[in-house]
Amino acid sequence: MTDSFLTFEQNWRAFEHEHVWHPYAAMPASMQPVPVASAQGVRLILEDGRELIDGMSSWWAAIHGYNHPVLNKAVRSQLEKMSHVMFGGLTHRPAAELAALLVGLTPEPLDQVFFADSGSVSVEVAIKMAFQYWQAKGRTEKQALLTVRGGYHGDTFGAMAVCDPVTGMHHLFSHALPRHYFAPAPDCPFSGDWDDACIAGFRALLQAHHKQIAAVILEPIVQGAGGMRFYGPEYLRRVRALCDEHDVLLIFDEIATGFGRTGTLFATDRAGVSPDIMCVGKALTGGYMTLAATLTTRRISGQISKNGGAFMHGPTFMANPLACATAVASIKLLLDSPWRSRVAEIEAGFKAGLEDCRSLEAVRDVRALGAIGVVEFKDDLDMNWVQPGLVDKGVWLRPFGRLLYAMPPYVIDSKDLDRIICAMREVAAEVAAKAPQSRNRG
Ligand SMILES: *Cc1c(COP(=O)(O)O)cnc(C)c1O
Repeated sequence: MTDSFLTFEQNWRAFEHEHVWHPYAAMPASMQPVPVASAQGVRLILEDGRELIDGMSSWWAAIHGYNHPVLNKAVRSQLEKMSHVMFGGLTHRPAAELAALLVGLTPEPLDQVFFADSGSVSVEVAIKMAFQYWQAKGRTEKQALLTVRGGYHGDTFGAMAVCDPVTGMHHLFSHALPRHYFAPAPDCPFSGDWDDACIAGFRALLQAHHKQIAAVILEPIVQGAGGMRFYGPEYLRRVRALCDEHDVLLIFDEIATGFGRTGTLFATDRAGVSPDIMCVGKALTGGYMTLAATLTTRRISGQISKNGGAFMHGPTFMANPLACATAVASIKLLLDSPWRSRVAEIEAGFKAGLEDCRSLEAVRDVRALGAIGVVEFKDDLDMNWVQPGLVDKGVWLRPFGRLLYAMPPYVIDSKDLDRIICAMREVAAEVAAKAPQSRNRG
């Protein structure tokens, strides 16, 4: 016993590598994951004592950095009361407090809150809400969704079915997914003149199929995991008008964009548009715990609930009090902080610092919006050297496909931001140096 325990202590990484799955990975994964012992502020402290500056916010979530005293206190104080209690037939103050904050901060008239345990589940809930709404109205033919290419909405089946069919990482399952309508990805630039051609494909699909379409679902302003693309707010205003005109509900997935990431509290604030249903997650608890929420309007909840109807969803850990209390603390911490100027400074830093990369032959585009900086290459990055190279440079970034991107915690200072930007520039230069010469002429 003692012997094998000692062996495990010495070899836990080898054991982990052989037995534990990682996201979108083979088993065992082609690369050993980097072991993190602790995290503090914007730094990940590795088992061997090295420190990495975090440029990922653990996938959009850790907006205040790690190990934050205010969030730690919120967790501890809720833990002393109860970490969890079922939500069926019971309720608690943290859920009410969080709902009050969400209702107050999201666009009117969103004021009905459903708590879910992950972003993907909140998307499932949003889709179910739309379907149940039309069901209750007797419009049973409305069973399809309309979305845009380049989107990402999660890994569960309902969510997968509205991810980009090519880049959405789910083509293996296409035979098992419901078929929805896909309009071209919005290609109107974030700023610049409106060109009506940008929405022509979307409009045509809606006009042709609105009788079958229950809802439109999209990520406002920033398409995240589907390609890190930004588009202009006018597109959202047109989509809202078209949905109203054709009796179709509008779902905004703000799971990545919510809580300040793009420079406004929610990305849709740029457009001044209110969806009928909205999903939030990721940064909701400041990256401490998994929690998401789906908000909708009284019109929709009322229709679903007509004649004693119930909304048919209820996860075991719904409205987990520990997560709700942490989310309340995280949102208050955000609102009390100068997040707007911090996010604006990060945007300015990315814009100035990454611009040089644009002249490299291997680079297709450079862009920044809010606390998001992106270098898009012409070819897929070779993670086998790019990932360890970034770790050697002392930063934590997680590129995918052709994209090298960063979305650091808002609390990052300019010195640490510079180190992330420098690492991105170095990688870009290295990629350019390795690119076959023929590309330069092609
Ligand atoms: C991450 C993400 C999801 C899925 O959230 P999970 O918590 O990973 O299930 C859905 N939509 C968008 C826009 C996301 O960025």
